[in-house]
Amino acid sequence: MAGEQSSPASGSTPSPTVEGAVAGPSGEGYDPKCVFCRIARQEEPGTQLLPCESEDLVCFPDIRPGAPHHYLVVPKRHIGNCKILKKEDTSLVEKMITVGKTVLQQKNITNLSDVRMGFHWPPFCSIGHLHLHVLAPASQMGFLSRLIYRHNSYWFITADQRVVLILAHSKLKTWVLRNLL
Ligand SMILES: [Zn+2]
Ligand SMILES: [Zn+2]
Repeated sequence: MAGEQSSPASGSTPSPTVEGAVAGPSGEGYDPKCVFCRIARQEEPGTQLLPCESEDLVCFPDIRPGAPHHYLVVPKRHIGNCKILKKEDTSLVEKMITVGKTVLQQKNITNLSDVRMGFHWPPFCSIGHLHLHVLAPASQMGFLSRLIYRHNSYWFITADQRVVLILAHSKLKTWVLRNLL
């Protein structure tokens, strides 16, 4: 016992983080290199979290808004992009949509038919941590945003569509391919 090394992490040991780590040593589902993980833990002073009724999710404004209101709904746990979502994750996606709608209502957006919500389909995401884009009013989106967050485009999967797509994953692939070719 006397010779046992009690603290391998003492001194200036380089970061033990492995690439794409899902559960880091400091907490479950936390990747210290991921900006959304840090935001969820309020470790990014520049990003203010919005009131969010879900314990598992956080919501904050997009740093590059594509519409007058542009928020991101993000699970606190590090989950990769929407491509890895499975049927079991349907309730998570639904929860994210609910939070998105609530946040818009808090911002006095009442016309929920003029709203765009969705995920970027890999490789069209800049951050590898699952996030739902919530944009409103969709009719006031700029030209570029309309392109980036285009309804039913193969790079932007709208949330309703996503719920369906989780259930019919193989169909999605066909659809994506058809649109790419
Ligand atoms: Zn993360
Ligand atoms: Zn995105």
